[in-house]
Amino acid sequence: MKKIIIATKNKGKLNDIKEIFKDLNFEILSFIDFDNSPDVEEVGKTFEENAQLKAQACYNEYKIPSIGDDSGLVVEQLNGEPGIYSARYAGENANDFLNNQKLIKAIERFPEPHRAKFVCVASYFDGEKFINAYGEVQGRIITEPRGNNGFGYDPLFIPNGYDKTFGELSLEEKNKISHRSIAFKKLYKKLVNEL
Ligand code: IMP
Repeated sequence: MKKIIIATKNKGKLNDIKEIFKDLNFEILSFIDFDNSPDVEEVGKTFEENAQLKAQACYNEYKIPSIGDDSGLVVEQLNGEPGIYSARYAGENANDFLNNQKLIKAIERFPEPHRAKFVCVASYFDGEKFINAYGEVQGRIITEPRGNNGFGYDPLFIPNGYDKTFGELSLEEKNKISHRSIAFKKLYKKLVNEL
């Protein structure tokens, strides 16, 4: 069976992606299956560049077709911040709590609604060509965190059409509409058509 590597160690992400790719006739591997995985610096200027960098670094290491992804939160009133810097918004030692605190401080001085979107680009690379897919989910930011599910900015983000934050929705509900699942479902369709 042909193989694809998902360039991540994140088990949650991986389970979601395996579920979406379950009918694709490939064995799905990840960095968890290897002892030494490449440490990719996210030096790109866009989500797409960073996703491609991850896929390319993974391919270069193992010479097996690879998929990288990059995601983040884009806030309208903050001119698109934190964007590609979402994971390290509060600095090099940032964590989810500090990132959320910084976002609340930055957004508080603007009038509601604080429109925002989560964005994800998933990128496949097989040594010759890239195949990219984009997903987004639109919503708004609140300044009082709600819910303990999920990770990152989930407690501050309410998707359009809902009254709960991503932190209050179950993982299953979030995954039906999330930027990541949209991007990976699109990529799945492209791979079925093109490979
Ligand atoms: P990466 O794509 O794994 O590099 O994630 C980038 C960062 O964006 C994460 O560390 C989170 O801060 C944020 N982020 C991406 N996707 C989500 C999500 O689904 N919920 C909450 N935060 C997210």
